[in-house]
Amino acid sequence: MFKVGFGYDSHRFDKDRKLFLGGVEIESEYGLQGHSDADVLLHALMDALLGSVGSGDIGSHFPDNDPEYKDINSLKLLAEVKKELESKNFVINNCDLVVVAEKPKLKPYRDKIVNSIAKNLELEAEDINFKATTNEKMGFTGRREGMAAYAVVSVVEKSLWQFLKKLNRKGVLDDVSKKYNDK
Ligand SMILES: [Zn+2]
Repeated sequence: MFKVGFGYDSHRFDKDRKLFLGGVEIESEYGLQGHSDADVLLHALMDALLGSVGSGDIGSHFPDNDPEYKDINSLKLLAEVKKELESKNFVINNCDLVVVAEKPKLKPYRDKIVNSIAKNLELEAEDINFKATTNEKMGFTGRREGMAAYAVVSVVEKSLWQFLKKLNRKGVLDDVSKKYNDK
């Protein structure tokens, strides 16, 4: 079975905190407010992953009044979410991610963020797509009050994934696509 998941998160800027996105520390005069490290991108990604397998959201897995999660590195939470998917016998196919912020400029960090997420989810960098956009000075992100992030993921049941990979290795999928392209 194939499934998709969607996640959204936002956090307010806080000048006394460091900024983390995708587990990467970003040079910025503002960090984000939150109970954990407030990694808005990982939070949106985790909600998408949990949503894809019908496992609720990060709030129910990691309550923000639990002292255990105070200032926690969100990569640790991502590892827990990865285990949840594994326990449901799903593997991640791809992730498409967007951060909305007027500043700082995130383009220079794109590869670092992609590689950090790929490494932590044991995926290839090509399976992760990261985009950054501004909100054209509109709304709370436009007024530089905070940042938002969106994530879409697709996941595949492990047995189906292994079957497809086996077919691919044997060249069966190439034969099939050739056959249909010929028609
Ligand atoms: Zn969050």
